[in-house]
Amino acid sequence: MPGFCILAGPLPGAVQEDVIMSRRRQIYEGKAKILYEGPEPGTIIQYFKDDATAFNAQKRGTINGKGVINNRISEYVFTRLAHIGIPTHFIRRLNMREQLVRQAEIIPIEVVVRNIAAGSISKRLGIEEGEPLPHTLIEYYYKDDALGDPMIAEEHIACFGWASNEEMQDISSMAIRVNDFLCGMFAAINISLVDFKLEFGRIWDGDYSRVILADEISPDGCRLWDMTTGEKLDKDRFRRDLGGEEEAYQEVARRLGLLENDGGPSEVFDLGAHRKLRGKK
Ligand code: C5P
Repeated sequence: MPGFCILAGPLPGAVQEDVIMSRRRQIYEGKAKILYEGPEPGTIIQYFKDDATAFNAQKRGTINGKGVINNRISEYVFTRLAHIGIPTHFIRRLNMREQLVRQAEIIPIEVVVRNIAAGSISKRLGIEEGEPLPHTLIEYYYKDDALGDPMIAEEHIACFGWASNEEMQDISSMAIRVNDFLCGMFAAINISLVDFKLEFGRIWDGDYSRVILADEISPDGCRLWDMTTGEKLDKDRFRRDLGGEEEAYQEVARRLGLLENDGGPSEVFDLGAHRKLRGKK
């Protein structure tokens, strides 16, 4: 990957992990990740691909280096969330594209947290993109590709038993805590957290289960806007054919301190300067 270098490269043992990997059983292949059986019971390896999809996979492409960057960003975010007491599935990063996570029973709900109107809420309710919402909104979607992940109410979740009332209390309070923390974290690097998607899993200990944060947190599942210029630093660049998606993802990682400073533009994202720096038109 020319043009940037991820800090904290392959971890010791990464080569060995890769070798073992080739003998591992694939559990699932999603749009942006592959899950493999982990080295110990109750663990899973998440492999981050460069593949990008949008509009329920009707649009497909690749964003060069995305998997490497998302692996690193998600490691960073989950580690920081663990420090404020959010239980997560993250155990450790194994190498450039893989991380070891706890195996959890996935709760089939996508939790979307919104601070500013954008995307589907703007379309659905006719609210102009960029309009700050009167207060933070939490929405739920049923995870089902064939149905196009329909929006649901808590009533549906209770009615169909997708999660218990206690689990929903944990999920909504964690979503708010994650939002508060991430808003501050991104504001410190001049980025507005417009909205994002979370997924949760259930882990069992005998007859008892608890809810933990799962999946990933990266520019694939967040809207991140430069606070000064309003430039989009997330997957909307791909969804909306804006171009510059590689640079945008790199910029988020760079501002988080995860890339070696390559002399690129600093406080304000200037896509033109970024592309010029990398010899692109
Ligand atoms: O499309 P919509 O406006 O509902 O998306 C809200 C947020 O959730 C966006 O940040 C988007 O990236 C994320 N999302 C996601 N995966 C989905 C649906 C939404 O990551 N399947």
